[in-house]
Amino acid sequence: MSALPEPRSAVTPGACPICGTAVGADETRCPECNCDLAGTAGRPMYSKVALIWTILAFVVVYAVVVVVVVSSN
Ligand SMILES: [Zn+2]
Repeated sequence: MSALPEPRSAVTPGACPICGTAVGADETRCPECNCDLAGTAGRPMYSKVALIWTILAFVVVYAVVVVVVVSSN
């Protein structure tokens, strides 16, 4: 008997981690419970679109800060 904890990746590949419904490899959401399947079964944790919008949001916030600082001087 091992004292090591069970691996946390006990989720069956191709199954929803919440309800266990079988999902296709190309599906991003569970058809039963609408659970986001990002990060399960080899899927990326974030999409490229989400990464681009996050970077754009940071750039916009930075630009606003620069404008406020410049206009206050
Ligand atoms: Zn589900």
